[in-house]
Amino acid sequence: MTRKNKTIGVLALQGDFERHEHQLRLAGARPKQVRLAEDLSDLDGLIIPGGESTTMNYLIDRFDMRRPLIEFADDKPIWGTCAGMIMLANKIENNQAGIEPLRLMDIDVVRNGYGRQIFSFTDTITVTLNGASLHLETTFIRAPRIIRCGSEVEALAVYKDSPVLVRQGRLLAGSFHAELDDDTRLLEYFLEDFFEQKRS
Ligand code: GLN
Repeated sequence: MTRKNKTIGVLALQGDFERHEHQLRLAGARPKQVRLAEDLSDLDGLIIPGGESTTMNYLIDRFDMRRPLIEFADDKPIWGTCAGMIMLANKIENNQAGIEPLRLMDIDVVRNGYGRQIFSFTDTITVTLNGASLHLETTFIRAPRIIRCGSEVEALAVYKDSPVLVRQGRLLAGSFHAELDDDTRLLEYFLEDFFEQKRS
């Protein structure tokens, strides 16, 4: 399957879903907004965008999406960005907001983990994809920090001593936003590498 004929859902309950749709179009895939369980049925993969995880958590339950999303991950790739990564995590440290993560990836995260006063910044990170180094301009917006990775989790990029892009089989999660500009290299990696292998 080439990336041209993949239909990739973008969870569109809340958050930065339009930028992901734009990048998917640039990369030659077909984006589809996902708001209900039935929207998942004809997808090849899914992106859970950044946004506000407390709101996303509430809306996932409000629209009965929790079980369908967990089942979708049985055999389909998912990429979670920022709040989307929080939703994929196993555990949220100091979880005062009572968010129920989907527990699909064996990572623990702390919300807003890059300093309370620095809510937003851009920086270049180095990502290692299939042995090749890629320098990406990324934006951290009240970004979650990964504080534990299980043994099945591979760190594809480390920044300020923490993994910021991690892979576990068919699942990808990043602390940062990579969808704000038109650089689709990371998206192309997702579209090309995540669709042939089994989730570990
Ligand atoms: N801090 C937000 C949260 O905890 C995430 C921010 C983002 O997705 N850019 O939900």
